[in-house]
Amino acid sequence: MNSEKLSKRLETVVSYIPKNSTIADIGSDHAYLPCYAVQAGIAASAIAGEVVKGPFESALKQVKLNALENQVDVRLGDGLDVLRPGEVDCITIAGMGGTLIASILEKGKNKVENARLILQPNVSAVSIRVWLMDNGWSLTNEEILEEDGKIYEVLVAEKGNPEAGYSREDKEAQLLMGPILSQEGNAPFRKKWTQELTQWKAILKNMEQAEETPALEERRNDLLGKIKLVEEVLNR
Ligand code: SAM
Repeated sequence: MNSEKLSKRLETVVSYIPKNSTIADIGSDHAYLPCYAVQAGIAASAIAGEVVKGPFESALKQVKLNALENQVDVRLGDGLDVLRPGEVDCITIAGMGGTLIASILEKGKNKVENARLILQPNVSAVSIRVWLMDNGWSLTNEEILEEDGKIYEVLVAEKGNPEAGYSREDKEAQLLMGPILSQEGNAPFRKKWTQELTQWKAILKNMEQAEETPALEERRNDLLGKIKLVEEVLNR
């Protein structure tokens, strides 16, 4: 992968960037995504944010290599701290856990109003859906895809009715699995949740050998609850 040829995962993220927008890619690493988005004429300009010095320097190098210094601004800092309120129309955050992405959004809440969010969690997309729901964001699109044997989710959100697309009876399962993704139920979706079920059932089996404690009981009930939710969706 480089800034001319992106992974299918990052291409999917880019496909939701509005034309001619100013974007911020947070946790940009090599800045492949912002360089590509600008070179392809999708974003008018971009900010690449990085908190770690090494990746920040790789981003600077990549921008220089592509002579994009006037369009891609590389900034060192934590999450959305690198932005001024209202500075960008679209924020991408990809390749991190959902809990970290949700905490970055929570910490920089005042910077994200009116922007489109395109989020690609590697795990725990549920943490992001819960954050969006609690903070008045509407989930406008979701995608799930497989690349090199790994399954990725992409969530797109804009300020709006957070309940849109969710139903009262199904909300818990929809937060876990995605209201749009569960509706579509495509092959990567079925594969992901079948794998999760297998893992959870193996954990339950191992628990049978462990000494019974209140914490163990809580964990078991949590797993049994999730297994029921997921099986119901897969069996529809
Ligand atoms: N976004 C790229 C992608 O999807 O291929 C790179 C993903 S890389 C696994 C995660 C990057 O996020 C790392 O370079 C890490 O330093 C950066 N990162 C982690 N926490 C961050 C934070 N709070 N603020 C900015 N960058 C962060």
